[in-house]
Amino acid sequence: TNTMRLDKMLVHLGVGSRSEIKKLVKQTLVTVNDETVKDSGMKIDLEKDIVRVDGEQMHYRAFIYIMLNKPRGVISATEDARERTVLELLPDSLRTFQPFPVGRLDKDTVGLLLLTNDGKLAHELLSPRKHVDKTYYVEASGRLSEADLSKLEQGVTLDDGYVTMPAQAVRVASSGEADQTCFQLTIQEGKFHQVKRMVQAVGSEVTYLKRIRMGPLVLDHTLTEGDWRELTEDEVAQLQ
Ligand code: URA
Repeated sequence: TNTMRLDKMLVHLGVGSRSEIKKLVKQTLVTVNDETVKDSGMKIDLEKDIVRVDGEQMHYRAFIYIMLNKPRGVISATEDARERTVLELLPDSLRTFQPFPVGRLDKDTVGLLLLTNDGKLAHELLSPRKHVDKTYYVEASGRLSEADLSKLEQGVTLDDGYVTMPAQAVRVASSGEADQTCFQLTIQEGKFHQVKRMVQAVGSEVTYLKRIRMGPLVLDHTLTEGDWRELTEDEVAQLQ
């Protein structure tokens, strides 16, 4: 069966450090199946045992799934010697699960980033064979013609000779500057700097890039940049 030390489980759930949990046990605040715990190192059956701290039931879970609206200026990595990482935007109670970003957004790209510790799901979402659609809102310099947009859809040749797979480009009315083009681009691959290089291939330059969708997962528009929330059960089910 699926067992774990009580103190490890509670540290994992963000209740406190191992020594803080020892104190809670001494204060007789921790129960397992309604019996007061004497040893904070006792083994817990994660499927059957009911653990309470100060009366509140602890729900252990192995996996977490977090939707982040990535801001500019942070990198999609778990740690870095010099740069701020997306992990630093999460509270310790979530970082304890050791989530990692599913794929990468550039430092200056904003929007939807999924973080999880579910390696199998991450692997499937990133597998080139699965062709998981990613939709970006793009602002590009200058005026792109209908012909430019249809080139982006049919496939363009990148600077390294790679020809991109079919995509969708949908123009979005631009309220701001006239000398720019706004559109949504949906791609099914994820080559390095792909959107920026596709836009370069039609003679323009990306000035703003935001991911708004990844497969079935849509960026929650109530999340401001730097905000996150856990996925709902429905969202997790759709990803699987
Ligand atoms: N394409 C890019 O060029 N940059 C990103 O961050 C994502 C897709």
